Formats: sequence, C-alpha cells, structure tokens
Amino acid sequence: MTSSVRISLPNGIQYTQPTCLFIDNKWVPGDSDTFSVLNPASEDEIVTIQGASSTNVDQAVIAARRAFEGVWSEIAASERGAFLYKIAELIKRDRELIASIDALDNGKPYTAALNIDLDEAWNVFRYYAGAADKITGQTIETSPAKLAYVMQEPLGVCGQIIPWNYPFMMLAWKVAPALACGNTVVLKPAEQTPLSALYFCELVLEAGLPAGVVNVLPGIGSITGSALALHEDVDKIAFTGSTPTGREIMKAAASNLKNITLECGGKSPSVVFEDADLEQAVKWCHSGIMDNQGQICTSTSRIYVHESVYDDFLTRFVDVTKKHDKIGDQFSEGIYQGAQISDIQQQRILSFIEAGKKDGARLLYGGTRHGQKGYFIKPTIFADTTESMKIVREEIFGPVVAISKFSTQGEVIRKCNDSPYGLAAALFTENVRRAHIVARKLQAGMVWINSSGDSHYGIPFGGYKSSGIGRELGQYALDAYTQSKAVHVNLDSAS
Ligand code: NAD
Repeated sequence: MTSSVRISLPNGIQYTQPTCLFIDNKWVPGDSDTFSVLNPASEDEIVTIQGASSTNVDQAVIAARRAFEGVWSEIAASERGAFLYKIAELIKRDRELIASIDALDNGKPYTAALNIDLDEAWNVFRYYAGAADKITGQTIETSPAKLAYVMQEPLGVCGQIIPWNYPFMMLAWKVAPALACGNTVVLKPAEQTPLSALYFCELVLEAGLPAGVVNVLPGIGSITGSALALHEDVDKIAFTGSTPTGREIMKAAASNLKNITLECGGKSPSVVFEDADLEQAVKWCHSGIMDNQGQICTSTSRIYVHESVYDDFLTRFVDVTKKHDKIGDQFSEGIYQGAQISDIQQQRILSFIEAGKKDGARLLYGGTRHGQKGYFIKPTIFADTTESMKIVREEIFGPVVAISKFSTQGEVIRKCNDSPYGLAAALFTENVRRAHIVARKLQAGMVWINSSGDSHYGIPFGGYKSSGIGRELGQYALDAYTQSKAVHVNLDSAS
C-alpha cells in the first residue's frame, strides 16, 4: 500500500498527500481498515487513508511516552517555544496549500478556510510559542519559618481527538498549548477530514521536532479514538465533537482517571431586544447560524426576537439570507456557503427540516437540499417555533434556524436557559445596563453583546452544562495542559 499520493487541487496547487500513520517521526502503515475521504461538493473519492488499530495506538503512545520523559519535558521551555514558532512560520508559508486541503475534504469555501481557519492556526501557534517560557506558579509564605512554592508541570502524553468542522484550526487549538507546556501528543483527526493533519506532520519533520513529540493517527472513532481514550498510558484526553461521544470518552477516561477537556455540542440562543440596532442584529444573527454551513458548535441556532420588532426582523432576516444564498463548490469564486460534510449529515439535517414542518413551524426560506450532486442544503429559516419542537431543542449542525418571539426579559432568559447545553449566547440591545444583567443570567460559557461567533486565541473557549468540561485557548489552556506541584519548604533548622 502506498504511503502518499500526488494530488492536483482544483485551484492549480499540487502537493504530496501522506496517506498512512505518523509515529515517532516516521510514516508507518496502519493495521486497521482503510477508509475513503470524499470531496463533499462532488461526492468523489479524493484518496484512501490507512486506519490506526489499537496496536498502532500502543506504538504511538510508547513513542510519545519516550519523547516526553527523555526529551520534550526536559528541554528549556524557550526551546519548545522556538520549535512552535518555527511551525507557525511554516504554517504561514503553506497557508494557501493547507487552506486548499481543508476546503477539499471539508467542503467549506476556500476563502473562509484561508482567512479564518489558517489565520487562527498561525496565531495560535505564535501565541503558545510566546507562552511556553511564561508558565509560572506561586510562592506562598505559610508561616514565618515556612514557605511553599507551586510549579506547573506537564501532564505527560495527551490524546487529542478532533472533529471535521475546522480540521486544521482544531489541530492548532489542541497541539500548540499541549506542546508549549511540555507534553507530547497523539492526535486523531476526524475520519472525514484527516488530510491537513497528515500534511502537518511534514511541517513537524521540517521544523525538526524530536521524534515522538507529535504522532498522528487517522482512523475511525469507534476504533482508533476509542483505543486512545481507553489507553492506560495516556494522561489526558482533549476532545471536540458531539456530546454523546464526549460522554463515551469520559467513561473511557475513567479507567486510569485521565485528565479530560471536552468541547461538545450546543444549541446557542440569540436574543434581540426591542431597542437593538436591528440592521446589526440581523447581520450578526445571520452569520451566527449560517457561517461554516451552520457547522459550528457555537452556532446561534435559536433566535428570540422581541414581539414589537418581530415582523420587521423576519423580513430583514429573509432579505439577508437571500443575499447570502450563494452556494457552490468550495473553490468557486464568490460563494458564501459550501457543502455539508457528508451524506449522513445532509440526511440528518433534512430529517430535522421535516420535523420542523411536521411540528408546525412556519417555513420562511429554504427547506430542501441544493442541487442533485454534493451534500448541499439551502439555508433554512423557520419562524413561530415553540420550545417543545425538536428543531428548538436538539443540535442540528446545519444551516437551519428557529426564530420565535418573546414579551419580557424574564421570559426570554428562562427560554435561553431551558436547554441541556450551555455553550454560547448572543444578545442585542443598546441598553448597557440590561446587556450586562442579561449576560450574567445566561447559562453559557461565552456571551456576545451586539455580535456573534467571536473567538480569539487569548480568550477561554468552552461551555457550561452538557456543552463540555474545561476551557481551551488563552492562559486557561495552559492550566488544562499542566498539573500543580506544591513544594513545602521548612526554613527553620531548629524545628
Ligand atoms: P463525533 O463526536 O462522533 O466525532 C468527533 C470526533 O470523535 C471524530 O474524530 C471521531 O472519529 C471521534 N469519535 C467518534 N466516536 C468515538 C469514540 N467512541 N471514541 C473516541 N473518539 C470517537 O461527531 P460526528 O459523528 O462527526 O458528528 C455527529 C454530530 O456531532 C454532528 O451532527 C454535530 O451535532 C456534532 N459535532 C459537533 C462538533 C463540535 O464542534 N461541537 C463537531 C463535529 C460534530
């Protein structure tokens, strides 16, 4: 079986795509079943990838353990930072290629991959390159004769399981802070989008990282992901994906009490108060649900609009949606929306749309697939939804929004919080006092006032309730990838 293939991308870029596993700085064959990676816009196979078995997971964990103990946790933090900086520069050099790879197997518009995903990945590596030698603990005087100091030490071998919606960006969010803190990693990309993670290994080699520091294992979740989550010599699992899989990972991690970070699903609300700047609110509410084909864990998929501006909001929301209804192949000029990730997701979204119709929601726009080929869905707007409807309660992960009206602040806060999820929330008002009062009352890990979807590598990202455990990004990720050691010192030689 070949370990790489030459790929010509539709935008003229050519490159060599690795198709096997990356363990201990070597390309090695996978022992598990192979799987196809498809272009979601054409439904054609791009390439066949080798899957990692539980034996391969063992090999990767052994390599990562050896690299952790003998090398990576021992070198100066500034040297780790310098390696991360090298990787950042290589990402910058190859940003067009990596954006093209992500667009190809994910289906997202190339320009979005380039300007959002790749810029973020570059920034994240630079941020943690700078953070590597600024990880500090505390010194505490416990009595006149004693003091204690606290060191932040790495956890060890980190298993990292990432989803398909932001393939390269999710890799950056996970790999950069883990390495900065002195951990080594075994990363499993999603089976739909393993290509950029495998290409990343070429950058790891070029940057000269010691063998075993980064290992990448493509494979199916229930085989490779599960073996990684269960592995007794893995110290942490960091996962992004659905809440049901997050639960499975939490159970598997219990075997040796692994440290876990889970970024799971959401059903995030937007609230538009009567005094909102309606044009701005419509713009942000639209991007909040429709960006990235609605495939964002923080997508604001429920919109609550004050009854006094409800009809006006609906008219404007349909207008903006029509203007952005530019669907197509990820490499076409001027498109806003690409294909959904897979046939399964397309069918799942269509079944939610049918449920919305059956439950009596008013369909204002879309409601069907787009075209005959490719996993496209028309942007879909439902109005007059009620709280018991499936489309209001469950995560759809597609370009489908449920809009309804409210009368009072108390009522809308209750509705927003009436969900097992608590990832994000947006609110629109010109009343500064109300904005902060409502922000406090919303049960969400992230709140946007007069915007939506903002995230920044310096700001913690994560959810309340069933949306996850722990936080990624910023200084918070440094806590998530280290453990505290308290050292007590007795200065009194007489006692
Ligand atoms: P998923 O949670 O099953 O997959 C995410 C990652 O977990 C992938 O790498 C997958 O291979 C891995 N995985 C799957 N089962 C595993 C297991 N038992 N043990 C270890 N790893 C495992 O998500 P999906 O099936 O790709 O999509 C289903 C739904 O998940 C979507 O409709 C959407 O609602 C949600 N989703 C959410 C996010 C997010 O960012 N919150 C991302 C992708 C999907």
